[in-house]
Amino acid sequence: MPVPLLDVNAQNLPLQSELEQVFREVLQHGRFIMGPEVAAFEEEVAQMLEVEHAVAVSSGTDALLMALMALEIGPGDEVLCPAFTFFATAGAIHRLGATPVFVDVCPVCFNLDVEDAAAKVTTRTRAIMPVHLFGQSAPMDAVLALSQKHGLAVVEDAAQAIGARYHGRACGAMGDFGTYSFFPSKNLGGFGDGGMVVTRDAAHAARLRSLRNHGMEPKYYHSHVGGNFRMDTLQAALLRTKLRHYAAYTAARQSNAAHYTAALSQLPGVVVADPAHCQCARHGASAAADAAVVLPVACPGNDHIWNQYTLRLGGGRRDAVKQALLEAGIGCEVYYPVTLDQQACFASLPEASRQGCEVSHQLALEVLSLPIYGELVPAQLDEVVAAVTRALA
Ligand SMILES: *Cc1c(COP(=O)(O)O)cnc(C)c1O
Repeated sequence: MPVPLLDVNAQNLPLQSELEQVFREVLQHGRFIMGPEVAAFEEEVAQMLEVEHAVAVSSGTDALLMALMALEIGPGDEVLCPAFTFFATAGAIHRLGATPVFVDVCPVCFNLDVEDAAAKVTTRTRAIMPVHLFGQSAPMDAVLALSQKHGLAVVEDAAQAIGARYHGRACGAMGDFGTYSFFPSKNLGGFGDGGMVVTRDAAHAARLRSLRNHGMEPKYYHSHVGGNFRMDTLQAALLRTKLRHYAAYTAARQSNAAHYTAALSQLPGVVVADPAHCQCARHGASAAADAAVVLPVACPGNDHIWNQYTLRLGGGRRDAVKQALLEAGIGCEVYYPVTLDQQACFASLPEASRQGCEVSHQLALEVLSLPIYGELVPAQLDEVVAAVTRALA
């Protein structure tokens, strides 16, 4: 039985009649731009995340860009962000003329190494962007302490972590801004592109709403430059339908992750990552280097929502294992094969913004993500475990 990396139909088609119903409603009222479903979706997301303001936007990438625009980040500014993340985090900084300064990550939780971030703060640093990678919170107490010490703004990239929590607080709701994505592969996967920005601050929220619509207020008067960052009414209406099922989607992913960990940790040479080494990056890296295979773990205090279930395959065997899984019909992917400090488009950045990301480089060689979507059936989970077992033998 082949197992794809993701099967959007397995989640969406059971909702077909609900989705068709809301489609008909939007078709009939005809308010395709900023229709009532947009505000309703914002309200529901704000409630779920226990945050004051939510602004629905065109994508997770635009959400990041808008948060930095609202902070008036620009030329001469430096912004700290992890070297091991999706490109959009750094792309948003660079598009505004600011300099991304790449921070190494923790080999246990895959998130920003706050000690390394602290070492890279300069007089030009304006903001820090923790990414809650693969569905698990970055170490936010340390991030917030660092930001307070140096007066930095905090923009949380929670594209992969909507609904994940850190000691009870929602990822995205702890900093000045939090951003989310509804790209189909994200945990709350939409029907095309979409995103959200949240903030606890009313003035920030007003600025975001204005930026979303060309900085236009009132109509045809522009005091600052924004863009067309609106979410379609139809997208909001369809996402509201899925939001009602979101807790069950998350529970299914968590159960799949627990199943993999229970089964795979029985194999010889396989260990579960040790949360005691989280945020002691150099130490954790060397400790894990001996083990052939390291399974991911939720660190204490984190409600992990498992956007990805990511193995570390040491000893240069990652590509062979990936090949064996693909040949066995098991979808798998390397998130991410090239760290941001090594991207060609950033080669002309100052040397100082691209150094000291050795753990990230190591991870780029070792990581492999397995299918984790909630609709995997038991036979598929067994298939994945069997194929990994054969590939590691
Ligand atoms: C997906 C993702 C984004 C971008 O979201 P889009 O909606 O695809 O623009 C940004 N950051 C991270 C970490 C992501 O995973």
